[in-house]
Amino acid sequence: MIHLPDWLARQAALRPNHPALIGAEATYTFAELDRWAGAVAVRLGQSVPPGSRVALLARNRLAYAAVVHAAPRAGVTLVLLNTRLTAAELAFQVRDSGPALLIVEDELMATAREAAGETPIITLEELAAPAEASPPPAPPIDLNAPHTIIYTSGTTGRPKGAILTAGNHWWNAIGSMLNLGLRDDDRWLAVLPLFHVGGLSILLRGVIYGIPVILHERFDPALVRRDLAAQRVTIVSLVAVMLQRLLAVDPAPFPPHLRCVLLGGGPAPLALLEQCAARGIPVTQTYGMTEAASQAATLAPAEALQRLGSAGKPLLPVELRIVTPAGHDAAPGEVGEICLRGPTISPGYVGRPPRQPDEWLPTGDLGYLDGEGYLYVVDRRSDLIIAGGENIYPAEVEAALLSHPAVAEAGVVGVPDPEWGQRPVAAVVVRQPVTSEELIAHCRARLAGYKVPRAIVFVDELPRTAAGKLRRHTLQRMLERINE
Ligand code: ATP
Ligand code: MG
Repeated sequence: MIHLPDWLARQAALRPNHPALIGAEATYTFAELDRWAGAVAVRLGQSVPPGSRVALLARNRLAYAAVVHAAPRAGVTLVLLNTRLTAAELAFQVRDSGPALLIVEDELMATAREAAGETPIITLEELAAPAEASPPPAPPIDLNAPHTIIYTSGTTGRPKGAILTAGNHWWNAIGSMLNLGLRDDDRWLAVLPLFHVGGLSILLRGVIYGIPVILHERFDPALVRRDLAAQRVTIVSLVAVMLQRLLAVDPAPFPPHLRCVLLGGGPAPLALLEQCAARGIPVTQTYGMTEAASQAATLAPAEALQRLGSAGKPLLPVELRIVTPAGHDAAPGEVGEICLRGPTISPGYVGRPPRQPDEWLPTGDLGYLDGEGYLYVVDRRSDLIIAGGENIYPAEVEAALLSHPAVAEAGVVGVPDPEWGQRPVAAVVVRQPVTSEELIAHCRARLAGYKVPRAIVFVDELPRTAAGKLRRHTLQRMLERINE
C-alpha cells in the first residue's frame, strides 16, 4: 500500500493564501478549500460508513470541488452522475453502483427522486453548508483505494462504471504535467462537466500542482472568451464543438498567456486544427478515455503544429501498443487496436471481474503509430465497415463529407449488402440546400471508390450521446430501417 499526504491539505500548508478555486461568485484559497473539504468530510462521515459508495448528481458548482476533495477523507468512493441523462438512465447507474447516499443539487431533486430508488438523498447545499468548528486533520490518501466511479459515455452500448483509484488520478496528473510542463503562473479553466473524467481531472490537478482552477458552471462561449483574458488562463480543456463555437463567437486572437488548448474527448476535425494553426491558437490534441483517467496520449505543445491530426505520444506513465487482429504488434503505419497499460488505467468496471495489474486494456479504438511513434486514432473498432474485404473507417468518410461547405454534421455506417457484405451509407445534416448527387461527387473526388457512400439520407439531427458523441449503432438501425 502506498499513501501520500492529502493533496489539498498539503497545498493548504504550502500556499494557504494562494487562490485554489475561482467561480463567478466566490474565490477560495487553498486554506479555505481545505477547511471546506474537511467540513464536508465530517458530514459525509456522519452519514455513511467508510468504504461506502456515494453518488453525486450536480452541475459544475463550487461545492462539487469540496465534495470531490472530501470523499477520500471520509473513505468513500464517489460515483459521478451525468446531469444530462434521463431519470431512467440514471436509475440504471444507481442500481448498478449501489451507493449508500445520493448527493444532489437542489434544482435536480425531481430527477434524483425518480432515479434514486431506495437510496437516501441529501442536497449538495446542505452537505456543503459552511461549518463553524475546525475539521480534524486529513488522513493520507491510499493510492490503491477506489477514488471515483465514472460511467463511460455509452457511445458503443450501455455505459460501464469505470473504477478509478486515487493512484490512477495521481499518475495521470503527473503524466500530464511531464508533458505540458508546469509554470508558476498556470491557471486552468474547467468548463467541461466535472462528472466526466476530463473535467474532474482538472480539479485534481489543481490541488496536486497547487494552481488555481477557474470553474464555469456551463459552457457559454462569450464568457469563456472573456475569462480567458480576465482570469489570465494559461490552460483550458475543451472538446471540438466547444472550440468551434469559441472561434465563431469572436474573431479576435486568443490572449498570448493562453499556452495550451487541450483538445480531447473525440476526434478533432482536421479543418478545425488547420484553422487554429492559421490563427495561432496553441491546440494540443489528446487521446483519452474514462478508463485511462483522462489523457493517455497527448501531443507536446511544441510539436502541435508539425503533427496536425496526431494525438501525440503516450504520457510517461502509460504503455501503448497497437495490436493487429492476429494478436501481433502492428508495424509502423499498420492499423490495429490501441491497447493501454500502466498506473493510470482503471483496475476494472463495476460488477465485472477486475483486470490484472499487468493486463492490457483493449480500448476498442483503432489507430496506428507512425515511424516516429506518434499515435493516429482512426476510428472505433466496432464501427469499422468491411465492404468486399476492404476496410472502411466511417470517420474518414465523415471527414470527406464535412469538408463540403453545405454539410454541418455527418454520420456514416455500414448497412448489409448481399453482394459486398456491407456498404457505407451516410446521414447528413445540412446548413444549405445540396443534392445527394453533389455530395457523392464531392466524396468521389476525395475517397477511393469503395469508400464513397452508396446513399445519402438527409436528416434534421443525428443520434448523439449526452456528451454529444455520435451513436453510430443507433444511426445504423435508423438507416437499416430506411433501407428496407
Ligand atoms: P463507451 O465506452 O461507453 O462506448 P465512450 O468510449 O465514448 O463510451 P469515453 O470514455 O467518454 O466514453 O470516451 C473515450 C473515447 O473517445 C475513446 O475511446 C475514443 O473512442 C474517443 N476519443 C477520445 N479522444 C480521441 C481522439 N483524440 N481521437 C479520436 N477519438 C477519441
Ligand atoms: Mg469507451
